Order: sequence, then C-alpha cells, then structure tokens
Amino acid sequence: MIVTADWVLPVCDPPIRNGAVAVVAGVIADVGTLADVAARRPDDHEVVELPGRIIAPGLVNAHTHLALSVLEGLAPPAPLAEWLGGVAPSVLGLSPEEFGASSALGASHCLRTGTTVVADIVYGASSRSAAADLGVAGAYCWELLGMGADAMDDSLARRGFPLVGEHVEAEDGRTVAGLAPHAPYSAGPGLLKAAHLAARRHGAPLVIHVAESADEVEAIRDGSGPLGRTAERLAAGFSPSGATPVGYLAALGALDDAVCVHVVHVDREDAALLAGRARGAVLCPRSNAWLRNGEPPVRMLREAGVRLGLGTDSSASNDDLDLFAEARTLRALDATLTAGETLWMMTMGGAQLIGMAGSFGGLAPGAQADLVAVRADADDGPVEAFLTGAPETVSDVMAAGLWKVRDHRVCFDIEEIRETARRAREHASALTEAERGKR
Ligand SMILES: [Zn+2]
Repeated sequence: MIVTADWVLPVCDPPIRNGAVAVVAGVIADVGTLADVAARRPDDHEVVELPGRIIAPGLVNAHTHLALSVLEGLAPPAPLAEWLGGVAPSVLGLSPEEFGASSALGASHCLRTGTTVVADIVYGASSRSAAADLGVAGAYCWELLGMGADAMDDSLARRGFPLVGEHVEAEDGRTVAGLAPHAPYSAGPGLLKAAHLAARRHGAPLVIHVAESADEVEAIRDGSGPLGRTAERLAAGFSPSGATPVGYLAALGALDDAVCVHVVHVDREDAALLAGRARGAVLCPRSNAWLRNGEPPVRMLREAGVRLGLGTDSSASNDDLDLFAEARTLRALDATLTAGETLWMMTMGGAQLIGMAGSFGGLAPGAQADLVAVRADADDGPVEAFLTGAPETVSDVMAAGLWKVRDHRVCFDIEEIRETARRAREHASALTEAERGKR
C-alpha cells in the first residue's frame, strides 16, 4: 500500500511535498515523493490519497498512566499530595480487568488524537495487553512503591512482569516492559537501586517521577512537609539527604540512563546532571498546572542539552491525552522552541527515551508503519501547520500498518470499550466516595 499526502514529515529528514509512504506487512518499505516511490514500486497498485493533509509518524506520548483513564474528572485539580490521596483508593482497589478496561479507554483516546506510542506506567500486565491489543505500542513500565528492595521481585512476578528468562520486548517488537519506581519520596533508596540494577540487567527502560513539586524538594532535602510524611510511610530506608531530588538520585547511582518525568523544580546543576547522566526527561506542562506544581524550565533544560520528550501524564490530572494540545502549552512556555524541535519532542525524542528509535518516531524504511494525518493548510510551512492538529483535524491514524482512524471514523469497537470502562469508572467512583467518607 502507498499512502500519499500533500506533505510527509519524516522527522529525521526534511519535509517532502507530494510525499508518499509505502507500507508492507505493517512495516514502512519506502518514503519519498509520490513520483519516486511509485516508480520504485511499479507492482504496488493500492494507493491511498489523503489530499489536503500532512502525514507524520504516529506520535509518542512519553508519559501516560492509561490505567487511570476511568478516573478522568474524579480527582479535581489540587496540590500533588492531596491529589495523590484522592487517586490512591482506585490504584489500590481496581481489579486487573478494570485496569485493562481503563487502559483500553485511554489507548482509544490516544489513537483518536494521533498517538500510537506511549511510555506508560502500569500496575500490572492487563494494562499492557489491553493497550497493545488496540495497537498502541511503546514502553509499559511496572510501578514500584511502598516496598523494600527484597519485596520487588515477588511483587513484579505477582503482577505479571516478564522476568529473567523471558524477554522484556514483545515478539512483534512493538512493546517493551520497563520499571517505574514511582518517585524518590515513595520508593526508598534500596528499592531505587534494585530497580535500577534490574532495568540494566533486562535492558528495560527505567522511569522515575522526579522534582515534580516544591513539596518533593523539601521532603528529599530535609524530610519535612506533606511528602516528607509520605516518605516516612512509603520510602523504606529513606533519610533526608540535603540534596535536590536529581542530586539525590545521582548520588544513589539511580540517575544513570533513567528517564526522569516532570523535572519542574530543578536548578542548573540538576540540568547538567540530567544532560550528562540521565537518558532524558519528559515534560508534562498541563499536568504540572493541574497539580499546581508550576512550570518546567523548558529553555534552561534545552540549553543544558537534556534530551526531551513530551507527555500528557494521566487524564486524571489533565484535560485529555491530546499531545497536540500539550505541545501548544509547552510552546507558550518557551517562545524560542521551534516547530521542528516541538515535532521532534512529540516523535523521535520520545522514541529515543524508551529505546525504540529504530521502530518509532520517524518515517524511514524498516520502521513500524505508524502514521498520523492532519488536515491543515500548509501556508505557514508544513511542520507549523501539522502542529495545529486537534481531535477534529486528525483524519487518519495507522498503527502497524492497520487503519485505526480512517477519514475521521474510528475503525475499532469504541462502544464496547466505553461500556466496559463505564463499569470500571463506577467502581472507581465508589472507591473515591468511600475514602472521602472516611476523612
Ligand atoms: Zn505520572
């Protein structure tokens, strides 16, 4: 099949006017102008024309919690410590099937807005399989918190993490399992080090929420504040470090090759550590605003050379999972961020952070056939025009060579997903109410 549009944005190469992407068995076989691709593939007679549209790689949402999608609207905007208290009963109380239903709902929202790849935090295997079955690829990272290092292997095994002997990467090459010790105030030093070692051993991504709030900075430095009390309860072996959250992780050795999410409350020294030792950082500006955590210092991080991806965080702490909307908020924080740099963060930047840059984030032969087409007028340049994408203008989405959205119509059973998710949401809502009653 050859898919052609007014413009193709390969990301790693310049935009192509009257571009085309050839897809064979779920993989990209060729990219170029329609004339060149058609000439090189005379036997490929199935041509899908997308006039008035711009094609880019399926977007990479580099930080999600798809399993919390049914909580949308249940935990209103509030400071982080308070918000976590509202979400915790559901995280502890939903069944694996309900997490699966919630993840399927989140995955359907991702596909509808052009995201085909995520770096997702999961509580068990059902979330990965539910999202992957719909076609959403990426890293699914098992969350770890509130336990000692000695309990980690059992906890992971109980929750279906593919352990030693199995490969963390799925056979089809579209998903990989990773580890996510939640944050320095909820995972103690022993657990952080054990997770870091295990991630190294498996070749799996390691994702940590870092320097998200001022409360976290205070907790890690001197053990005080609301998250200092959380650390006492959850972070076995933690003692106040006198350091910043980034400095603390670096001293433990857990920063090396880690993906750090949020990094709102960081100074120049932290930024240099992130650039030199971490694999990179994921910015989630709308979630930061929702939880009243301030704004990530986008320009300082870029100037320090930190490798960056963009994420929405969960739809329980954001309006939606639309990465285009997230990108517009990000650009409002840093007027020097170009359209090209923004597109990079939404695609290849995120794919590099999860170690899947050969398969996702760019349109090139051998990569997975994941595409998004946006209806837009390219007068201001094709990349700038692409970034105007919205739920109404994302017209076509392909994952692994299969249409997920075709000419604005969703190609999977969205009603069944909504119905199953509705029941999980009712349970989550009851759990939240019961918790409120206790307070
Ligand atoms: Zn998060």
